[in-house]
Amino acid sequence: MSEKKILLTEKEIPEKWYNIMADMPNKPLPPLNPATRTPIGPEALAPIFPMGLIQQEVSAEKWIDIPEQVRDMYKIYRPTPLFRAYGLEKALDTPAKIYYKYEGVSPAGSHKPNTAIPQAYYNKQEGVKKILTETGAGQWGSALAFACNMFDMECEVFMVRLSYDGKPYRKMMMNTWGASVHASPSKLTQAGRTILAKDPNSPGSLGIAISEAIELAVQSESSKYALGSVLNHVLLHQTIVGQEALLQMEKAGDLPDIVIAPFGGGSNFAGLSFPFLRLNLDEGKKIRAIASEPASCPKLTRGVFRYDFGDTIGMTPLLPMYTLGHNFIPAPIHAGGLRYHGAGVIVSQLLKDNLIEARAHHQLECFEAGVLFARTEGIIPAPEANHGIATAVQEAQKCKEEGISKTILFNLCGHGNFDMAAYDAYFSGKLSEHELTTAEIDSSLAELDTPTIA
Ligand SMILES: *Cc1c(COP(=O)(O)O)cnc(C)c1O
Repeated sequence: MSEKKILLTEKEIPEKWYNIMADMPNKPLPPLNPATRTPIGPEALAPIFPMGLIQQEVSAEKWIDIPEQVRDMYKIYRPTPLFRAYGLEKALDTPAKIYYKYEGVSPAGSHKPNTAIPQAYYNKQEGVKKILTETGAGQWGSALAFACNMFDMECEVFMVRLSYDGKPYRKMMMNTWGASVHASPSKLTQAGRTILAKDPNSPGSLGIAISEAIELAVQSESSKYALGSVLNHVLLHQTIVGQEALLQMEKAGDLPDIVIAPFGGGSNFAGLSFPFLRLNLDEGKKIRAIASEPASCPKLTRGVFRYDFGDTIGMTPLLPMYTLGHNFIPAPIHAGGLRYHGAGVIVSQLLKDNLIEARAHHQLECFEAGVLFARTEGIIPAPEANHGIATAVQEAQKCKEEGISKTILFNLCGHGNFDMAAYDAYFSGKLSEHELTTAEIDSSLAELDTPTIA
């Protein structure tokens, strides 16, 4: 048996982020002003984000320097380990070689600090005192609370009601790093009050929580908003994951045939896969990249490619994306981080151009894969991460059926140590399979009056 764990030294932490925009054959269409439906420039984002991040959002530079202070902060948990899943391979009796990059070693327990740290850094540089945000499962809120605390800034988080009630430890974590946390929809904002008037028992959604955080962020000069996925600069920051993984795979003397990651808004998928897709675009390699999404929130496999809002109320610019419609409220599955109606602009364009693939999995199949992983590899995965494992298991089983060996790499983007209630529900048979009908998707899409894309 060769190495189980492939490690890098601190010196090997990448010094630049990789911007796939520079290499894309078709660049994404521009964001539109919702009122005039004409393309907007970067200045439209200035009330919401600091200029340092806006520049990255629209940059076509292939490589972007990681500031020294950010690299230093990354050292708290980076480089992260890459493992060979010998235990899982054996249990599946597959000829495939399975590797996973483990991002659960960060203080927040997921990949999210990879962007929370630079986002806090660029805000701090421009004199911002407070960052507001939303959180679904609590992972992003925890990551931003941690990063703001490290840069001595305030952090205020709107947490989707369903998770606020179900994951009290996530809230306490954020409080420990000094952040304040509200259940969303809340009465603190017009957006929240509007939703509550329609449905006082609303379980909330990422789209609603985003509306609330932006509404308050734009009210003060010294406060800004931060998003934990979807946007180009967030995907950019996450490429540290794939660049490290590429180095580690080289050390293992291997190159993946398939890279896999769970998909919420696209950031951890982009983070792992873009540095490998660069080899396809630059060197003609044929590495497959598969995004794994929940069957109950299937924007990539059953959504449409058109302009839509990033939030529920319609405060963001119109973005060209795969979407289920900004009013779509996904069933309350346990993978809270994947309950988002749309996909990032870059990943959407890549899917449209058939440069990446997508696959949907049902909740029970994901937990089955996650439990198998926990029992063979030891780490208990986040419910979101279970989606990537489910795809990896399918691919490994296909290798067995076809009698061929492939190298599979997936992103174990977070641990599930705060998600034990979800596992408990699974073990006690309380997890149901939600069958999303075409009628439900059609009715959400029918409400859209945003521009279509030919
Ligand atoms: C947030 C989150 C996701 C989904 O978000 P992406 O932007 O698609 O990465 C997946 N897994 C975990 C553990 C998360 O915290």
